[in-house]
Amino acid sequence: MKDVKHCCGCGACVQACPVGCITFERDAEGFEYPRVKLEECTDCGRCERVCPMLHPNEPAAPLSAQGVIHSDTSVRLGSSSGGVFHALATAVLREGGVVVGAMFDEHHTLCQQAIDSSEDLPRLRGSKYIQSSNHEAFQQVREALKQERRVLFVGTPCQVAGLRRYLGQDNPLLLTADFFCHGVPSPLVWQRFLDEVLASHHLRHEDIAHISFRHKSGGWREYRMMLTLKDGREIGIPRRKNAYQRAFDENLSLRPSCYECPVRGGRNQSDLTLADFWDIAHVRPSVDDNKGVSLVLCHTTKGIEALQLLCLQRFDTDLEAALRHNPAYHATRTTPHPQRAHFFEQLTTAENVTLLIEQELHLPLLQRLRKEINLRKYLLKQHLMRLMTWK
Ligand SMILES: Cc1cc2nc3c(=O)[nH]c(=O)nc-3n(C[C@H](O)[C@H](O)[C@H](O)COP(=O)(O)OP(=O)(O)OC[C@H]3O[C@@H](n4cnc5c(N)ncnc54)[C@H](O)[C@@H]3O)c2cc1C
Repeated sequence: MKDVKHCCGCGACVQACPVGCITFERDAEGFEYPRVKLEECTDCGRCERVCPMLHPNEPAAPLSAQGVIHSDTSVRLGSSSGGVFHALATAVLREGGVVVGAMFDEHHTLCQQAIDSSEDLPRLRGSKYIQSSNHEAFQQVREALKQERRVLFVGTPCQVAGLRRYLGQDNPLLLTADFFCHGVPSPLVWQRFLDEVLASHHLRHEDIAHISFRHKSGGWREYRMMLTLKDGREIGIPRRKNAYQRAFDENLSLRPSCYECPVRGGRNQSDLTLADFWDIAHVRPSVDDNKGVSLVLCHTTKGIEALQLLCLQRFDTDLEAALRHNPAYHATRTTPHPQRAHFFEQLTTAENVTLLIEQELHLPLLQRLRKEINLRKYLLKQHLMRLMTWK
């Protein structure tokens, strides 16, 4: 790897190496990168063959775009958007299958993990704005497929693309879903932020029962982070006051590869792509109750069929209309926050990461205006390119 921005950390090379000479190591920013023990490497080239960054798909328009709403309101309220993941996962688990997604361990480190019981489903649900570590999930998928069990794998577009290359061929028992991906923030920034929240309330990791990044007590659009404690108390952090969320939203804390992502922009290798249907109020106002609506893009007939089998409220939608206010699908480039490099330089020595984020995001007016103009120019360019590609 010549440059950190060429590695998305999907874990395909680590898990595919036939002699196990590749391990993950965290860098100073907190992101994992593969390290090869050269003395053990047999130069077989498998790590390069499975790398999704080296082998991106050509962009293609999805087969269909649908708005989806889970019929159970409590499921929707516990999901990030319309609850489509819960419906897909429940169907697979009911048939004795395996579901792989992102869950916290006891230290609140995020990992891709497999479950096969609906009791564990709450741990997978919900968007967690952190890069999830993937040391063994692809191997777990391969094992489950060998046992002829159905598998649902949900992850970032690069994780799904990595899984596809790791497995080498499609399997009718495997259903994959990625999501519109704004990018993944550093696990180190997350750990430091969470430790500070806990310290300010005199709490420990073991006091936490659940963390939601998208709690809907103020509505789907006005979501907040919520820490639910084992004694029933709740600590809510509104989005605007949440330094961690703002660092994510403003591209301060993302992985270097996310700023030039070769698996976005319609290059998804999944069966389905899940998203928030943010523009539903204009596209279909009658279903907008501010409790969450999913947008689902189907890239394969397997994806379309899987969705058809579920008992969900669905409606076809025009893709361009659905993508308004949601640039994360088409965008292959994201402009890093101008203070990104400075932020990560200060991270190891800064005593308080929350304060550091607030200082870095407080840009002078002129810089803020320049940032806004650049973003608008970029979105316009993307829109024009899309029109030319799809015609
Ligand atoms: C980092 C990130 C960025 C996103 N950016 C956008 C965006 O810009 N625009 C948009 O419309 N939607 C975005 N989404 C997707 C959106 O938040 C919802 O996940 C999606 O609408 C599905 O919602 P749901 O109600 O069906 O499922 P949910 O119940 O919310 O399920 C989410 C699924 O994603 C998996 N998951 C959660 N966090 C991670 C993670 N960090 N890494 C890998 N897998 C994970 C979970 O295990 C679960 O399977 C993003 C999600 C994440 C995790």
